[in-house]
Amino acid sequence: MSLDIVDPSPSPPPSHTLCLEQGTRRFFLALHALDTGHAQAQAKDIARALGATGIHLSYETRETNRISEFFRALSVSDFTQSECCVWDGSTTNNTPCFYALGKRHYVRDITMKYLDIPGTRTTVKTRCNHKLCVNPYHFEYVSEPNSRLSCSDKSMLLVWRSQGVPVYQMAQALNVSRSTIYRNLNHERVPLGTTSH
Ligand SMILES: [Zn+2]
Repeated sequence: MSLDIVDPSPSPPPSHTLCLEQGTRRFFLALHALDTGHAQAQAKDIARALGATGIHLSYETRETNRISEFFRALSVSDFTQSECCVWDGSTTNNTPCFYALGKRHYVRDITMKYLDIPGTRTTVKTRCNHKLCVNPYHFEYVSEPNSRLSCSDKSMLLVWRSQGVPVYQMAQALNVSRSTIYRNLNHERVPLGTTSH
């Protein structure tokens, strides 16, 4: 890495190439990493998010693109609370997505998986109501009206309770009534630990 490059962003320039594998499919991505450990950590998170089974890292540099840029931003939390991050790539039904390893991936779902947030749901909405916003600070979990809480929601309730989150906030976050929250907390007196879902 040459030191004479002046980069205004807080991230280093692309330093590695990540090759993800899933069966016979390959997906290549430029990685911006401070060192090998940082590259490996990112590779693992991206592989989990995309459901890849194989990871190869090399020191080759490769052109960045929208997807590598998004993962770069995730790796250093390069988002602000105040501004939306508007996705300018593919969309399906007005929902930001991209294609990798032969599958469509929704950017907000991928973000939840990348950040390894428990209670990841199929639907992640934005607080800002901007359909194309992919700023994780603007995300909220939404369950379908009247649907019961999933196991992961219940695990999250326990975490929130241990953190002293008020019931009304839990209800808002999961888009259910307060009574649903109370009912579930009453049923979940014993910590779940590693319950299989
Ligand atoms: Zn937003």
